[in-house]
Amino acid sequence: MRSKSKKLFFYLSTVGIVFLLGLTIFFSFFIYWDTSSYYRKTYYDNISIRKFPYPFRAALTLCSDIDATDSLREFLTIQEFLNTKNHTVLGKGIGLEIGNSFFPVRSNKKKFSLMSDNPHDQEVIIDLIHLGYIDFIHSFNSAKNRQEIKRILEVLSKNNCKLDVWVNHAKAPSDLGPCKWCLGDNPDSSIYHSDISKKKLGYIFVWMGDISSILGQGRPLTLTSFFDAFDKSHPFQSLINNVFKEIGKYILSVLGSEKYAMRRYNDLVTVSLLDDGQKVFKFMRSGIAYYGIGKAATAKGLSDIIRKDSLKKLVSVGGYMIIYTHLGKNQGYPYLPKRTIEALRLLEQAYRRGDIYVTTTAKLLKYYVNKKYLNWHVKFTKHAVNIYIDNISDPVRGTFIPNLEDLSGITFYTNQPKKTHIFLAIDKNHYQEITDVVRNGPDYTGRKSIMIPIKHLKKIDSLMKIYHKEGLF
Ligand SMILES: [Zn+2]
Repeated sequence: MRSKSKKLFFYLSTVGIVFLLGLTIFFSFFIYWDTSSYYRKTYYDNISIRKFPYPFRAALTLCSDIDATDSLREFLTIQEFLNTKNHTVLGKGIGLEIGNSFFPVRSNKKKFSLMSDNPHDQEVIIDLIHLGYIDFIHSFNSAKNRQEIKRILEVLSKNNCKLDVWVNHAKAPSDLGPCKWCLGDNPDSSIYHSDISKKKLGYIFVWMGDISSILGQGRPLTLTSFFDAFDKSHPFQSLINNVFKEIGKYILSVLGSEKYAMRRYNDLVTVSLLDDGQKVFKFMRSGIAYYGIGKAATAKGLSDIIRKDSLKKLVSVGGYMIIYTHLGKNQGYPYLPKRTIEALRLLEQAYRRGDIYVTTTAKLLKYYVNKKYLNWHVKFTKHAVNIYIDNISDPVRGTFIPNLEDLSGITFYTNQPKKTHIFLAIDKNHYQEITDVVRNGPDYTGRKSIMIPIKHLKKIDSLMKIYHKEGLF
């Protein structure tokens, strides 16, 4: 009996010491590695670039993998509620730019996909890719080889479909990146496709499996960031499923782990090499539900991520959040549970208040990298402040002169908006003034600004009504 309790005491104290040691290592690393300097801003006198388009203080997107969205009816019912102000079966739509994804092919041809037996699936997928509401491809799913992928790419190219974003799916062999089953970028594999698919579709962002439970990426970490996902009502579960896991991954990133490298600075986007040597931007998705990120990636789980307090926190830390979810994982018609609809209405309010910029994954990522890699300078004259945009220069796309769409939402703080002008390079030595600008009064920091207006996606309220008339849903 005595030796048993001795053993137990020895066991518990060992666990305790290891735990305390881990925490000490974590805190000392964290204090030593201050991440705030990583997000240094560029200033030219009193001119600086604002983090988010005016007036927003944070940005959020739903990045919904198409898994389990089995019919066109289901897909359109969900999108009509998200994207329009129509009166839908889920109530009045929230009219936000929330995108979705598609499967080019599925093993069951009766289910919703580009190459399904239902020709309307293809028609709608192509329409919504053109309009930007389908903004990423969710792997080639059940495609078996390069020949089959070539046939799919022909359909997409013939219809002029371009996609900025690729998201890996479960264990699809066509997935990209370093994971074991990801053969899409391996030139020795019979399913190798990234040489042709990247060129034809034009994707530059790839999601390779990273999911964080830090609320908001692209912002400095603080000690409290690791407790963002702590849930007072479920303290034990949220600590185990989120907080401790995230701390562990952070420690590994500091120790040099390639897999968790993005955690080191809480990056939203980082440059990554595909196996065939092509460069892409790898990006991070996130979730903060107390019962774990994977389990919460459903229509119902969304309401445990989008909450009043989490949105408020996202605004206060000024983060970018790409929520990992599957809206198709639901209980059937009418597809979105009440709680999720309420959560989405909260999100709409945060957008309309000017707190959170809500847009598609593709647009959010593009804004992030275009702003990050924007080269510009300022000249002050007696009567004017002239901002000159030279180019965007990044490791994936190279150096190029952006167009107005690339600059959508870019906002500069200036003390004198009326006297400030923005010029865009035509070539190395010439610039032309951008006349379509918006001059803003003070924001929550008290600073005024000038911006290139956000280019919104075309509204699809009437298109959805046409789909209704055609009997598609
Ligand atoms: Zn998937």
